[in-house]
Amino acid sequence: MNIHRSEHLYKEALDVIVGGVNSPSRSFRAVGGGAPIFMKKARGAYFWDEDGNRYIDYLAAFGPIILGHAHPAVTSAIMETAVNGVLYGTPTEKEVRFAQLLRRLIPSMEQIRFTNSGTEAVMTAIRLARAYTGRDKIIKFAGCYHGHSDLVLVAAGSGPSTLGIPDSAGIPASIAQEVITVPYNHPDALKEAIDAWGDQVAAVLVEPLVGNFGIVPPAPGFLEQVNEWAHQAGALVIYDEVITAFRFHYGGVQTLFNVEPDITALGKIIGGGLPIGAYGGKREIMEKVAPTGPMYQAGTMAGNPLSISAGMACIQTLSLPGTYERLDQMGKELCDAISMLAEKYGIPVTINRVGGAFTVYFTDQPVVDYQGAQAADGELFAQFFRLLLEEGVYLAPSKYEAWFLTTAHTDEDIQFTIRAVERAFKKMKPHH
Ligand code: PMP
Repeated sequence: MNIHRSEHLYKEALDVIVGGVNSPSRSFRAVGGGAPIFMKKARGAYFWDEDGNRYIDYLAAFGPIILGHAHPAVTSAIMETAVNGVLYGTPTEKEVRFAQLLRRLIPSMEQIRFTNSGTEAVMTAIRLARAYTGRDKIIKFAGCYHGHSDLVLVAAGSGPSTLGIPDSAGIPASIAQEVITVPYNHPDALKEAIDAWGDQVAAVLVEPLVGNFGIVPPAPGFLEQVNEWAHQAGALVIYDEVITAFRFHYGGVQTLFNVEPDITALGKIIGGGLPIGAYGGKREIMEKVAPTGPMYQAGTMAGNPLSISAGMACIQTLSLPGTYERLDQMGKELCDAISMLAEKYGIPVTINRVGGAFTVYFTDQPVVDYQGAQAADGELFAQFFRLLLEEGVYLAPSKYEAWFLTTAHTDEDIQFTIRAVERAFKKMKPHH
């Protein structure tokens, strides 16, 4: 495969953009290094790189592109909006309608505030929990990534850890001290932390279904226990549904599992591919936010017409009958085939799948927490990643990211991918 232009652009990028990328998770460092592929255009389930190679996209831009690229409904919403001006710095009717729609689908978000990113949404949700409770500490789960604000970069998986950076430099020890980290899906560890620190904890922050060290569902009863123990201690529960909302179900994971947090953070899919975030929760808590209350948060671009229109078009399109059944059916077909082929070629894999999102971990052990995800074989994944790239199948360059199906993927794409996986497995050399 010719990637000369990507290599050339990468050289130029390295000079002017730090590390050559605008987000570390785009680098190929975790899969052997070298030039990442520079994409030129995308349509439906495919993108094309600068050298003209075509790839089936299972990255979906790390989640948001659930309708595939350049979906006509989203594109026209953006274009119709753009001609009337892209930013006013005033309220608009669209924001109200979109907030109403989101509240109807995720009723625990009685009041909502839009932000520009998932990072901002989670960062503010934490500030709000602190403002509401008058406490400082938060409990989070090891390996869960909640954006790059100071507090949550402690023991965050995805981004930092795939690069072998356990935490970030530049975070004051005084801030790290306010974060208690416990393993996901281990209620005993959570109970211990609550028993030790409970009266100082403002919130337990959790991905109700992990998307950031791969797809890891909560064990039965785990989320109920999070709620019960947090509330007994007088702490709030924050769900980070930046990756999960509208991914598995027309609503949040909370509406799918029938569990309710006090505050929810959203992002990704609700912007249809444009920058967005949102946080919301019980009215009594949200009333702490300025200008109603004493907790400050703002944004020049927050609720901008383009992001809101694109998000609205995306969410409305997802309501079409059969959307989630179709994603689930393609996910099942692909995962069944990958399992079968792995067995045939003696490759150790564990697949965690929920609907149209799944992770293929190169390990024969079950993965229920971050430790399990870390145990996946990075070398084997790097081989797999490179071989699939050659075949024209693009995965996230990390051993425990998810594959995301979109409504644009076809049965033919699935069959193409299965054949590519078989050729890759045939060439792979497991070293145990
Ligand atoms: N929370 C979760 C669960 C995420 O997956 C992400 C992004 N991967 C974020 C927060 C941060 O969102 P953003 O990149 O939009 O700041």
